[in-house]
Amino acid sequence: MATEKNEKMEQIVSLAKRRGFIYPGSDVYGGLSGTWDFGPLGVSLKRNIMQLWWKMFVEDREDMYGVDAAILMNQKVWKASGHVDTFTDPLVEDLETKQRFRADHLLKDAGFSPDGLGLEQLTQLIKDNDIKSPNGNALSDVRTFNMMFKTTVGPIDDESSISYLRPETAQGIFTNYKNVLDSFYPDLPFGLAQQGKAFRNEISPRDFIFRSREFEQMEIEYFVDPAKWEEAFEHWRQQVWKWTQALGLPDENVHELEVPEADRAHYSKRTIDFEFDFPIGKEELLGLAYRNDFDLMNIQNATGKNMDYLVKGTNTKFVPHVIEPSFGVERAVMAVLTAAYTEDEVNGETRTFLKLSERLAPVKYAVSPLVRNKPELVQKAREVYDALKKKHGAVMWDDNGNIGKRYRRQDEIGTPHCVVVDFQTLEDGTVTIRERDTTQQRRESIEELIS
Ligand code: ATP
Repeated sequence: MATEKNEKMEQIVSLAKRRGFIYPGSDVYGGLSGTWDFGPLGVSLKRNIMQLWWKMFVEDREDMYGVDAAILMNQKVWKASGHVDTFTDPLVEDLETKQRFRADHLLKDAGFSPDGLGLEQLTQLIKDNDIKSPNGNALSDVRTFNMMFKTTVGPIDDESSISYLRPETAQGIFTNYKNVLDSFYPDLPFGLAQQGKAFRNEISPRDFIFRSREFEQMEIEYFVDPAKWEEAFEHWRQQVWKWTQALGLPDENVHELEVPEADRAHYSKRTIDFEFDFPIGKEELLGLAYRNDFDLMNIQNATGKNMDYLVKGTNTKFVPHVIEPSFGVERAVMAVLTAAYTEDEVNGETRTFLKLSERLAPVKYAVSPLVRNKPELVQKAREVYDALKKKHGAVMWDDNGNIGKRYRRQDEIGTPHCVVVDFQTLEDGTVTIRERDTTQQRRESIEELIS
């Protein structure tokens, strides 16, 4: 089973590279571990996912406000939020090669449950069970490793110029809570949403884009009356399911993991990790956490600025509590590719195709003339291409190779419809439309197709 799973992962990685979805970062220079570049089709898929999210959770709602905060933030943000002191992972070193690994990952791989254990307990577990590094060598004691990328801002390199590449987008939302309150004074509950890059110096990035050092998040901080947090939590739980369905992920492959108290952040009274059956196993796709008033109180205490919300028309004031749904874009892309990757048999041959929804597919229509050497066919096909492109944007001109090869190529990139202009087109103005999922072909008039 494990090999089968790894095989599927390899097939997806290979298709993603071959067809221009995702390439290893800095590949031409030998790569940079934990970084990935999105190619022409990957960037379309990723943007379609991000746009769908923005539409569902910001544009289609009355209670949501978008923000786009700077990635570099005042170092006080990360001190107050606890990231400078506690945003760490447990690290062990191979005593021979000095290679570093995540202690909890090595233990999980060996069949143990390390969640919630402290450094000493992790070290003990490794010693008691003689866990070795993947190279077969003895391991060091476990210590903490801070995952934030440190940098300096401005020309002077001293303590005061230290900043960090943000390890989450959430803090850029909390720091704007008061600004949005002052500008709009929304009724409670209301939310702020942000999409953007986050950076984590993961000890061992792995599993394709699942664990990268640079990735993208889509986060919501939903501010609520403290007495009503459970209602809001339930609302967002349902919204998350709507989201996974909109991505085309089968319900049976999405699982809620109620995070036990010992593994939750100390301020969180409830957290659900939504896991997905990735080819690498059942792993976290996104998180939903009740964060209490932890973040706003940190800001209030650190800055002395009041974070109260005054309920309109009353004297009631409180610091709102927060429900945080936190989505990773790369993990969404990987889940979508996993769910869409399909093999079937056509005319006795195995066919690979991506069963992407119309909304997410990077290319909606591919247009081609049946043959390349008939100028009248090419000209007609160009007219159809231009008209479709004007309407849908995501339309590809594809006249490479024979028609069978074109269909295969378009299947592999998930194009739902291939339009072919042939000799009959010149006679009656109809074209062949070949559907990806069924491989069925039908004829339709050009006017019908375009309208
Ligand atoms: P994990 O336990 O897998 O390291 P996490 O619990 O640290 O993840 P959060 O801090 O809750 O993750 O971040 C919210 C979301 O951001 C995750 O659910 C995931 O989708 C995404 N994410 C976090 N770390 C990474 C990473 N290194 N690469 C890609 N996506 C990530």
